[in-house]
Amino acid sequence: MKPIPFNRAAVTGRELEYVSRVISAGPLHGDGPFTRSCHEWLERLTGSPKALLTTSCTHALEMAALLLDLKAGDEVIVPPFTFVSTVNAIVLRGARPVFVDIRPDTLNLDETQIEAAVTPRTRAILLVHYAGVGCEMDAIMAIAARHGVPVIEDNAHGLFGTYRGRPLGTFGLFSTLSFHDTKNLSCGEGGALLVNDARYADRAEIIREKGTNRTRFYRGQVDKYTWCDIGSSYLPSDILAAYLLAQIESHERIQRRRHELWSRYAEDLASWASGAGVRLPVVPDHCTHPAHIFYLLMPSLEARTALLAYLRQRLILAVFHYQPLHLSDMGRRLGGRDGQCPVTEEVCDRLVRLPLFFQLEDDDQARVIEAVMGATSG
Ligand SMILES: *Cc1c(COP(=O)(O)O)cnc(C)c1O
Repeated sequence: MKPIPFNRAAVTGRELEYVSRVISAGPLHGDGPFTRSCHEWLERLTGSPKALLTTSCTHALEMAALLLDLKAGDEVIVPPFTFVSTVNAIVLRGARPVFVDIRPDTLNLDETQIEAAVTPRTRAILLVHYAGVGCEMDAIMAIAARHGVPVIEDNAHGLFGTYRGRPLGTFGLFSTLSFHDTKNLSCGEGGALLVNDARYADRAEIIREKGTNRTRFYRGQVDKYTWCDIGSSYLPSDILAAYLLAQIESHERIQRRRHELWSRYAEDLASWASGAGVRLPVVPDHCTHPAHIFYLLMPSLEARTALLAYLRQRLILAVFHYQPLHLSDMGRRLGGRDGQCPVTEEVCDRLVRLPLFFQLEDDDQARVIEAVMGATSG
């Protein structure tokens, strides 16, 4: 029996060719021709006025925090059901994350609990579209407008997802993308910042280029570049952009295959799930998702532990996902306590993600489905 991994990054064919072109023709540094092509693609795919490749989604989130001028005493509303980077971006500026629980159905920030968490110190609502299923953006944008605070979308999962027909990542003032190995499109490590209000575009470029206006200099808009603001080095080498461009150009193929796999899980597991007390992903009618994650919500922690062990015996690697950030060592130091976000605490114990990647073959997926159903049959 051959092992079935949880994930393998998609390779679609032209990655090496594009990378070789950078090596032979240069430049190797950031913002070369491949980076520019990626920017154009991302702007076209999302409709955002300004896309900037970054070295990771983590760094794009840090850029968003810098652009907001977050500082000590500021508060940012954020779900505890997310990757650490979402919250680190806030804490690195000395600001305080205010955790608001998630909805039990989509596992997204619970919009009905946001308003109670808003204070005069609230500087942003930083949300995550879990599994690329949209948060309730109508309600959230209305709350944000009422209180005059910007929305930032951590859209690491949600490129190609839509909410009421509009691409995720285009609602907030800024949004971030990830091209880490585990994401639908990848270049190993990478990300992007989408700047949805063009007034912030210049400053975003400056922060990304060590606080200098080198990007304007490269475009020939100034005759020398200088230190203008705080910043860091958030731009990837054009080698990575070349790899990523090959992936972006193949996005239809990648997405088609991921959707086939996702839908097969959903169809083949539906009746088993209802019999076994297992909940499958919920996608509201007004959302389309990018087939990023297929998860099972098991009835209990014990059932999850048993399922993961059963699959592992059959050489199938399924994994759980986030642990509640407010209950992590760092979260507790920031004041997190048990029972603070009950939905998150419960879901984190019960969630299992099944293998889902471009090269997953039909036979292997059939083996996963059979094993999942076998695990709970007694
Ligand atoms: C993957 C992920 C990140 C981090 O992405 P990197 O590109 O690895 O920095 C941030 N937020 C969420 C929700 C993620 O899933």
